[in-house]
Amino acid sequence: MIELLFLLLPVAAGYGWIMGKNSAKNQAHQLNRQITSEYSKGLKFLLDREEDQGLEHLINLLEVAADSVEHYSTLATMFRRRGELDRAIKIHELLLKHPSLDEQQAASSRLELAEDYIMAGLLDGAEEHLVWLVKAGYKEALEPIINLYSQTREWDKGINMYEAHSELFTKPQHVKAIANFYCEAALQDNDTQIMRKAISLNHKAIRPLYELGHSAFTKEDYVKAIYYWRELISQFTFFAPVFIEELAMSYDKLNLTHQFHDLLNELLEKGGVLIKIKHCQALLEQGHIEQAIKFLTDSLKRHPTIRGFSFLLQLLAKQNNDIKDVLDQIDKLVTSYIATKPDFQCQHCGFTSHTIYWVCPSCKHWETIVPSRGIDGF
Ligand SMILES: [Zn+2]
Repeated sequence: MIELLFLLLPVAAGYGWIMGKNSAKNQAHQLNRQITSEYSKGLKFLLDREEDQGLEHLINLLEVAADSVEHYSTLATMFRRRGELDRAIKIHELLLKHPSLDEQQAASSRLELAEDYIMAGLLDGAEEHLVWLVKAGYKEALEPIINLYSQTREWDKGINMYEAHSELFTKPQHVKAIANFYCEAALQDNDTQIMRKAISLNHKAIRPLYELGHSAFTKEDYVKAIYYWRELISQFTFFAPVFIEELAMSYDKLNLTHQFHDLLNELLEKGGVLIKIKHCQALLEQGHIEQAIKFLTDSLKRHPTIRGFSFLLQLLAKQNNDIKDVLDQIDKLVTSYIATKPDFQCQHCGFTSHTIYWVCPSCKHWETIVPSRGIDGF
């Protein structure tokens, strides 16, 4: 009898194990059924257009299915895209309060919530969350907060943020934005000292040099204008069309035109067609028309451009008096064609315009609008 009991012990243990396993399985099964049922209820509400109740149900599910944070974020993004910002905000606010979120998930939800607020025009709310993220070292918050301060024209806030957290500014476009914030603040307070700070930033920006040159030029301080613009044209030769006339004039005012010609010679290799045209004009002033025609013809063979062709027509008209009228007529046509082409283009989004914008009206990036390039460009 005792032997029989011993024999039955493993059977009893096995039975207990199997029953226990089934019970755990049953519990999990029950939980799954509960989640599925809540999901179904939530979806049914949504389908019945009782969206508030549907959302409420789905959000309540977070209590039992915390691993589905991603799904809720996707849902919120969908609502935001559809312009249903109150719903997107509600989901992100609830997500942010949820204790099961890890640090990264909480930061992403906070960032998304700030984006909802921006779209809803609730800029103060957005700023609060973005500032929190920047202070916590999240670089992802830099772009939206820079855009926000650009929109509200709160240059000082942007500058203070940069000065307190400059280590986060590793992307050139963010540093360029701050350089422009310094320029805007300087223009607002009429204080070029502030602008000079922008020159020493770790990524070179176009605008501080341009504005400092421009400010000196308007004060007829041509030595200073040349100092800043020479630096600018050497570093950002493609930007020459914006100020080359004033730069030439500054040299002229100081009777240093020959130095301007030397500068053009230095820039011929990396400069666009405008530098080449200016070089030809210099040759023309010195009476070397044939040399100018040869230089431009050779250059156009390698890099054909409409503006270069137009100037070649003008040079040929000067040299060939008998066909001057015909050449002038062709040049008129070419010039009208050029006038239809945009002078500036955003390198980030492709936005085109006839005037320079420091911040792109379309993509909101700073200093991405530059003089047009290519066959129709400079
Ligand atoms: Zn753009």
